[in-house]
Amino acid sequence: MRDASGRGEAKSPRMPSDASIAGGRSTLSPAQKALHKLGLRDAIDLALHLPLRYEDETRIVRLSDARAGELVQIEARVIRSEVTFRPRRQLRVEVDDGSGRCVLRFLNFYPGHQKTLGEGALVRVRGELRGGLLGLEMVHPSFKPAGGPLPQTLTPIYPSVAQLPQAYLRKAVMGGLVRADLSETLPPGAWPAAHAPAWSLRQALELLHQPGPQLRLAELEDRSHPAWQRLKAEELLAQQLSQLQARRARDAMRAPVLQPSAIEPVAALRQQLLAALPFELTAAQKRVDAQITADLTREQPMHRLLQGDVGSGKTVVAALAALHCIEAGWQCVLMAPTEILAEQHFGKLVSWLEPLGVHTAWLTGSQKAAERRKALAAIESGQAALVVGTHAVIEDKVQLHRLGLVIIDEQHRFGVAQRLALRSKMALGEAGRALEPHLLMMSATPIPRTLAMSYYADLDVSTLDELPPGRSPIVTKVVHERRREEIVSRIAQQIAQGRQVYWVCPMIEESEALDLRNATATHAELQRALPGHAVALLHSRLSAIDKKAVMAAFAAGQTAVLVSTTVIEVGVDVPNASLMVIEHAERFGLSQLHQLRGRVGRGTVASACVLMYSTGEQARLGQAARARLQAMAQTQDGFEIARRDLEIRGPGEFLGARQSGAPLLRFADLATDTLWLEWARQWAPRLLQQYPHLAQRHVERWLGGRSEFVKA
Ligand code: ADP
Ligand code: MG
Repeated sequence: MRDASGRGEAKSPRMPSDASIAGGRSTLSPAQKALHKLGLRDAIDLALHLPLRYEDETRIVRLSDARAGELVQIEARVIRSEVTFRPRRQLRVEVDDGSGRCVLRFLNFYPGHQKTLGEGALVRVRGELRGGLLGLEMVHPSFKPAGGPLPQTLTPIYPSVAQLPQAYLRKAVMGGLVRADLSETLPPGAWPAAHAPAWSLRQALELLHQPGPQLRLAELEDRSHPAWQRLKAEELLAQQLSQLQARRARDAMRAPVLQPSAIEPVAALRQQLLAALPFELTAAQKRVDAQITADLTREQPMHRLLQGDVGSGKTVVAALAALHCIEAGWQCVLMAPTEILAEQHFGKLVSWLEPLGVHTAWLTGSQKAAERRKALAAIESGQAALVVGTHAVIEDKVQLHRLGLVIIDEQHRFGVAQRLALRSKMALGEAGRALEPHLLMMSATPIPRTLAMSYYADLDVSTLDELPPGRSPIVTKVVHERRREEIVSRIAQQIAQGRQVYWVCPMIEESEALDLRNATATHAELQRALPGHAVALLHSRLSAIDKKAVMAAFAAGQTAVLVSTTVIEVGVDVPNASLMVIEHAERFGLSQLHQLRGRVGRGTVASACVLMYSTGEQARLGQAARARLQAMAQTQDGFEIARRDLEIRGPGEFLGARQSGAPLLRFADLATDTLWLEWARQWAPRLLQQYPHLAQRHVERWLGGRSEFVKA
């Protein structure tokens, strides 16, 4: 199949025009390595590496015709070139093109700059014109000596990485375009009449890589051009096809049919747990439980996402699923992304299941060797029916006896590699045929429905759309850092009433040390301000044991205030905590804020969340930060928050951040290309049915080596 996709070319010299890298040399040049890093290995990958944008270098504009704000190219003579020191050291070059004057500013510059831009030189300059107080200027424009032919077409600018110059990349792409097999994969008639793209795939690609002289920037910029439409449609189709394939592959797999044994009284363990719980299940919990139970008694592996807002009660649903599996005589694994979260699950599940005679093993990377050996032995012998832990549970050494169900909490927080490892771990031999365990994933960050359908076509989704009764709403206030003292006195009030308080300090990317200093200072400040009360500090540098001790003391009510970096983000359940203060709330993502806020309001006590923001030196909050804080103040509904998050960030980033960082869709946009999405959803099954070879070629072409990841 690979040859049919055009990928077979990997064996031939990759870039024939570049002698230095042809000829089967074994070492890769930095530029070649960079190409690989971008995933550009075969001719087809290069051909499908489309421009990010274009630059219009076809025209020279007269300064008298240009307006501030425009991106222009001018040819002008340097009339003055000097290094000035105010407001800071810079190269200031004044040019004149006969119709007007303009100042070029360079804050970073080299002797070469000064030489080319010497007084009297005639230069060609490209950049954004700004209207300064003292006339037009450009900051850091590109420039070269004037003269030389003007390009006839728009210049494509490709997504690139360091060490991969545009010129090299452009040449590589052109080579790929020539060599790639671009034969059509869609039967004639597949394109909807109303939107029929007028081109073949090859024509569309040629147009986008080398727009003809008649094409203007505006036609290509918003990606509404039919050539762009064609590629977005193809990409969406590839994505739908690969998910359909994944779904079919899964349907062909067999899982253990988890049928409670006839010897035991049916569903005895589940009944016992339900009877012992201090609450009734909500209607939503009952519905979701029934969906899961139905899946588990089928012989196809379950592949279900359970999404429910923070506090919606996913844990008990997971426990019921685990019991169903255990009653049928199989083992269950529950995996959580952090040790603290796994620990919480472990504590809760042990307290629920141990009285029923179900033994639970605990596995984590940080435990002592002897303890670990004991856990592994219990797992291997089958004595432990349930295994709870961090990703340590998927390590090679763990030999599961009869794995029937895997539950993953906060699944999106696991990396793609971990999810793949789990998959291979899950393929277990049983009586001569491979049996795949059932899989239940849980997430408190709901994915909007349309997105879930198009991204996870091979996933069934259950939703807990109801909170347990008796929760009082959380009052959310957005306040400026200036009012810090007021907030501290609010904390004192809460403590006086016997309540507990979280204070969250932000994580500063790549600066753990700074984080720590910040949290430590706040901790000291609160200790001073709240004499006679226990204020604890939790941060990522603490050992697992210390973290555990700090959390346990807070959960037991021995600590009044817990100052923490974002390690408490998920899962912590302390119903007596009634106030959450988030410092530098403007630095957090929306779903993160929502997760944090979900730590309070878990009991029946009226709770509040204070989002404290700081504007630093700039007087205003950025637009996105403001939108995030506003959304938090306006709603407490996780689905609405997810919808706004999507709106603020766009689907690429929304999903991208959850994956390995590689965006799944490069060109199409799920929010705006809905017509093509619909079309792809209709055509994928037909293509797979009627033209399986074309379908396969299409997926290979578009996803190549990436399809494994797309499925994960
Ligand atoms: P999450 O969905 O965020 O994981 P949890 O499972 O931690 O939520 O549940 C939050 C809290 O609600 C826990 O203290 C849990 O015991 C409690 N809870 C769960 N279901 C119910 C219910 N039906 N009625 C009352 N309380 C419930
Ligand atoms: Mg939870």
